[in-house]
Amino acid sequence: MDKVYGGYLCTGCGIGDVLDIEALKSTASSAGMAMQDHPCLCGAEGRALIEKDIAEKGVNTIVVCACSPRVMQNEFNFGENTITVRGNIREQVAWIGGRKESGEVDDFLQELGQDNVRMAVVRAQKTQMPEPYKLGTLNKRILVMGGGIAGLTAAREASKAGYEVTIVEKDAVLGGKANNWRKQFPTSYPYAALEDNSISKMIAAVQSDSRITVLTSSEVARISGAPGEFNVTIKATGTKSDWDAPAKVTVDEQEKIDKGELPDPNAGLQKYTEKNPAGESFGAVVLATGWRPADVSEYEHLGYGKIKNVVTNTEFEKLAKDGRVPGRVAFIQSPGGKEHDKDFPYCNSVTSMVALKQAKYVRDDNADGKAYIIYSHMRTPGNMELFYKGIQQDDGIFLTKGSVTKVEEQGGALVVQAEDTLLGESLSLQVDMVVLAAGMVPTTVDEPTINLAYRQGPAFMDLDLFDGYADSHFICFPYETRRTGVYACGGVRKAETMEETMDDATGAALKAIQCIESVNRGVAVHPRSGDLTYPDFFFQRCTQCKRCTEECPFGALDDDAKGTPLPNPTRCRRCGTCMGACPERIINFADYSIDMIGSMVKSIEVPSDDEEKLRIIVFVCENDAYPALDMSGMHRNSLNKLARFIPVRCLGSMNMVWIKDAMSSGMDGALLLGCKWGDDYQCHFVKGSEIANKRMENIGETLGTLGLEPERCAVRQVAISDYDKVPAMIEDFVQEIIAMGPNPFKGF
Ligand code: SF4
Ligand code: SF4
Repeated sequence: MDKVYGGYLCTGCGIGDVLDIEALKSTASSAGMAMQDHPCLCGAEGRALIEKDIAEKGVNTIVVCACSPRVMQNEFNFGENTITVRGNIREQVAWIGGRKESGEVDDFLQELGQDNVRMAVVRAQKTQMPEPYKLGTLNKRILVMGGGIAGLTAAREASKAGYEVTIVEKDAVLGGKANNWRKQFPTSYPYAALEDNSISKMIAAVQSDSRITVLTSSEVARISGAPGEFNVTIKATGTKSDWDAPAKVTVDEQEKIDKGELPDPNAGLQKYTEKNPAGESFGAVVLATGWRPADVSEYEHLGYGKIKNVVTNTEFEKLAKDGRVPGRVAFIQSPGGKEHDKDFPYCNSVTSMVALKQAKYVRDDNADGKAYIIYSHMRTPGNMELFYKGIQQDDGIFLTKGSVTKVEEQGGALVVQAEDTLLGESLSLQVDMVVLAAGMVPTTVDEPTINLAYRQGPAFMDLDLFDGYADSHFICFPYETRRTGVYACGGVRKAETMEETMDDATGAALKAIQCIESVNRGVAVHPRSGDLTYPDFFFQRCTQCKRCTEECPFGALDDDAKGTPLPNPTRCRRCGTCMGACPERIINFADYSIDMIGSMVKSIEVPSDDEEKLRIIVFVCENDAYPALDMSGMHRNSLNKLARFIPVRCLGSMNMVWIKDAMSSGMDGALLLGCKWGDDYQCHFVKGSEIANKRMENIGETLGTLGLEPERCAVRQVAISDYDKVPAMIEDFVQEIIAMGPNPFKGF
């Protein structure tokens, strides 16, 4: 498109009170763009001014220097045929400082505002109109893996929204573990009475739904392709398919196989090809493969596996369903012994509530029934607190905090010894059965489960970060996995009750639909929902180093036969991690490129003759750090005026050439503000901030070889709630740079 620029500067919200507007306009003119000012650009009159220019002058590339791009998005949306770039001179300039006591404009604040105007102009000059990526053939059918409560609910909800669904269930019947549940938790006030298990009704609803196809005794052997065009091979449960990974064979074994001395375990297996004769095409996948009970046999003092009447909570539920509940039962919620105060692995609020439910079975089925619940932590969230309180009122149910030291058989009964109880006494209980609160282990632990034909392997990545749970971001993006188009719900996502699972599965079904419809429109799904851009590779200069394919957090890139990256745009979340990784700098987006950010860096004016005016470039992650900075401004916190802020999609998209650009422009320091990494990571693209930190260690070494202090570059972790801490974080870094003195390569 031939660009026709229109520049607009708002003087409202205090901007005109503290900044020299004429000087800002003149800065824009020097950068190549005339700017008009208005006292309230976001109001009807301000918008009309811009719309008039669009209609009469053919303006199609608009720069609005006003409030943060995070606000007034509808007001400054001029349609899909225009590019709009926002320069933040309110939250990050006008609201961080004021005029001098003398009433004069503060030249430090003014220079910051002028740099922000320059950067906005350059950004507009370097932005291209994005073209949506559209698939030739889009399939809207949804694959649901797992036919338990989660899978059945997801299928029904998707069907109700008008989507065709196929459920693949490994067992011969639908229903999963819930087939063995006797009762459900109460769902309405006063949260006292257990409710009938609804699983048979759910199965019947699915079986009579003409939009749902059910494949029982079946497994997903392989999923290739991408959202909107997943190609799925389904096989009979337990059979080996051409898509399975070949059995591992040692060199010695292979020699024997070749000589015919050993049978070949891979006989008949064909190599993986794109050919998929049994393939079905799907738009998105709901992963509802559930959980398995944790192994509790390692706790020898509890006797599981050795003493007949020591069972798990799952086993007890089945006994209860069959009407075989003994009169005296001890429910042990934590291992006790040396593991004092710890829970069983994968224990949670569900296992607490299950013990309460099962104690009620003991009372309901036996006139003199006695249930003993010995716990370290009792968790009953939300309204289930009322259920817990109701159970506490039952004289036949005895709850105590305590540590079980031994379970043994004595004369046909079981004796449970516990100490450190709430009453401060040791306890010895004679019971008929002991029930151990085995935790709920997601099926994604230690198993690929999903069997993707992706370059990065068949499973989700880095699941150890969240104990094997499949979410890609627990807090912000529930249901989303590290593979776009695959949405997890139920026990594979987190420990949940039946009732919670139904809510969860509804969410995952809606996400799957959202994904399909986003692909249909050629836009990204979360977190950059609606983004029309995707990475564009200039392959002529690709050295096939594979950094992009390896670092993509979402497995969006495969390799072609020659080893060149093979993009799958509908798998892509548009984080830019590949762009940050590429040493050849050949990966770019229409509105976010190596050249654009580099040019913005270079557009910042670096005084070469004033040691008071050092310049610090701060690359700010748009997800948490940028809103934290904005909120800091909204609270009118002051901010060091030597810093210049450039938003980036994710710190993973930081290409280290920008640091070199900054240092060679004479800037004195470079700071990266991104999300937390490590065990409790908050990075919205899973590991972008962690990758950036590693890259920064390398750049530090490079600076060292140039005679610059590596400490001139640093990374800090910021949560969105850190708005009151971020000014001090920046101030501390600026003071460190001041102590180091100016960049020696500056032209003093
Ligand atoms: S933008 Fe992010 S998700 Fe997309 S290919 Fe690059 S690294 Fe992968
Ligand atoms: S990082 Fe760049 S050079 Fe390396 S394989 Fe990817 S596109 Fe090619």
